[in-house]
Amino acid sequence: MDYKKYIKIVHDWPKEGIEFKDITPLMDNGKAFKSAVNEIVEFARDKQIDLVVGPEARGFIVGCPVSYALEVGFAPVRKEGKLPREVIKVDYGLEYGQNVLTIHKDAIKPGQRVLITDDLLATGGTIEATIKLVEELGGIVVGCAFLIELSYLNGLDKLKGYDVLSLMKY
Ligand code: 5GP
Repeated sequence: MDYKKYIKIVHDWPKEGIEFKDITPLMDNGKAFKSAVNEIVEFARDKQIDLVVGPEARGFIVGCPVSYALEVGFAPVRKEGKLPREVIKVDYGLEYGQNVLTIHKDAIKPGQRVLITDDLLATGGTIEATIKLVEELGGIVVGCAFLIELSYLNGLDKLKGYDVLSLMKY
């Protein structure tokens, strides 16, 4: 499916010089959204996934329907101060800014096979931080899936050795 027709490019948002890829028109279209989720499910199908992990907030939108279809759990990665119980955390750089991501300490059992999802791969800082959290808890990252990859930002360089799927490339 040509998913790009459902992506709106917003100029200078949230800052001047950023060409923001808005995925909400894709989410708005039931058939396109289902098809995109199904492609990720098929990518993950033979990987014996135990758990899907996604960073807030759009990693939830992609990851939750995938975990539902695979009949496995979903563990949220959130900004500092958002998760209510004991967490581990990691600092990371973003396409625009600096942040801390956290995950519940008991979210992953050692040896669990994890699929990480997010809406978009830009510089790779968010996914790299999410991988660090998963691996620190003993999880095995068996795949990373995105709706969009911004190839010109070279986020893939941070994902060498990992199995990556992106449904759209810019
Ligand atoms: P990175 O850490 O790879 O530089 O940035 C990726 C993260 O920032 C993702 O979690 C993604 O949601 C968000 N992000 C950065 N740029 C965009 C964009 O143009 N569109 C959307 N939808 N998210 C973006």
